[in-house]
Amino acid sequence: MPAIANYRKHLEEIALLSSAHALLEWDQETHIPDKGIQARSRVIGRISRRVFELTTSPDLGNLLEELRTDGALSQAERASVREVGRQYRRRKAIPADEFEAFTTTCSQAQAAWAKAREASDFQAFLPHLEKVVDYQRRFADYYGYTEHPYDALLEDYEPGMTLAQLEGIMQPLRDRLAPFIGRLADEGTPPDPSPLQGDFRLDKQRALARAALEFIQYDFECGALDDVEHPFTIAIAYGDVRVTNAYKQDRLGYGLFGALHEGGHGLYHQGMPEELFTLRLEEGSSAGIDEAQALIIENQLGRGLPFWKAFYPTAVQHFPELAAHSPEELYRATNLAEPSMIRIEADEVTYNLHIMLRTELESGLIAGDIRPAELPRLWNEAMERYLGIVPQSDAEGVLQDVHWSFGYYGYFPSYMLGSLYAAQFHQAMLDTVPDLDASLATGDFAPMLDWLRGNVHQHGAVYLPGELVEQATGSTLDSSYFLDYIEEKFSAIYRMDRN
Ligand code: ZN
Repeated sequence: MPAIANYRKHLEEIALLSSAHALLEWDQETHIPDKGIQARSRVIGRISRRVFELTTSPDLGNLLEELRTDGALSQAERASVREVGRQYRRRKAIPADEFEAFTTTCSQAQAAWAKAREASDFQAFLPHLEKVVDYQRRFADYYGYTEHPYDALLEDYEPGMTLAQLEGIMQPLRDRLAPFIGRLADEGTPPDPSPLQGDFRLDKQRALARAALEFIQYDFECGALDDVEHPFTIAIAYGDVRVTNAYKQDRLGYGLFGALHEGGHGLYHQGMPEELFTLRLEEGSSAGIDEAQALIIENQLGRGLPFWKAFYPTAVQHFPELAAHSPEELYRATNLAEPSMIRIEADEVTYNLHIMLRTELESGLIAGDIRPAELPRLWNEAMERYLGIVPQSDAEGVLQDVHWSFGYYGYFPSYMLGSLYAAQFHQAMLDTVPDLDASLATGDFAPMLDWLRGNVHQHGAVYLPGELVEQATGSTLDSSYFLDYIEEKFSAIYRMDRN
């Protein structure tokens, strides 16, 4: 049998087991009865081990080596060899015993973090954090890098991205965002958020979330919408890409924009051809590109005026009290921007400053320039510098995110990159799709979806993120698209002159 046929057979085994794994995980977050959790974790553990064996097997290593120089492969097959090969090399790079010890350290650190956050007690978390950081620094050495150890960790989430490139992307954000936030506060008239605050029945919110997913043509015949505490989207198989959501009774926007966000992730994975699922390319080009698909639907669409013009009758049908406000007032109500302590509650304008702060600190930890014990002080100083506010406790400061307890170093930049990619994709769309906003305002989402399908979704992980962006927009990633978008949108909402 030719190597490519053997390789595809090997991938099929991985894909089937991974699909079972994904379904069990989805069920664990949505429907599992409490008493089933213990038995379930054994099933998940066994499948994970089998998948790990298959993704690191010598057979796969030989096939990858052989296929690396096979000139007869299709473009998607070559991309598959690149992606599966990267995962193979990274998994092989860390001695198995050490990886297992790391996993144990992380689960203890995560439990310690949850308690420490509850009590706002950084010192109780510190010894765990030090261990996790030590592991990550060693892993960076195992993976290898050219310039900076943080680059080795970024590679997991944003292949090809380096800290030096991130610096080039972040500097314009530093230069323009913080002063703009200052101007909004000093010269602007903030919008009134109260139309979307009140008492909104949860069953009606669920129906509204479903209607929003229907607006963006999320395909319910290939998906599902379920309640969870922390929303996520999961591609279980070709034809089965599910979204989840959470709601707050007093804030309509929370569940509505959550649904649009997850729906954006859902569209991405529903829009990939079956061939990409069989080649393990369905996870997408990078975490940042995936996040961009969610953010462009949540923000550029959902927090935009054309959407509110089109969606207004649906919103009023579910919540008649909204008829007391115009579509413009509801649009404005979704766009309050002000400095706040908590990243996940931050708005479009301030969000990236939260990410830059984390990126600076975690890259310093990995380089050894910053000691974990210094984090609370450095965190608070950065909050003051970027947002002009200082946390009153570590719970609303350095302890707020789970990432550093379970070894997700290098992940934070994906959120920022997602918003930058989204703005750049959106501008390219406006440049090439005639009357895009006019179509959206009449409820016709097809032109936007067609652009996303054609330029992003259908490619899955065939292209590296840098290639994908250049191909779709004609230029490399450039933060000025995001900055222009933010300044123009929010200057108008805050009724300020641009200059
Ligand atoms: Zn997301």
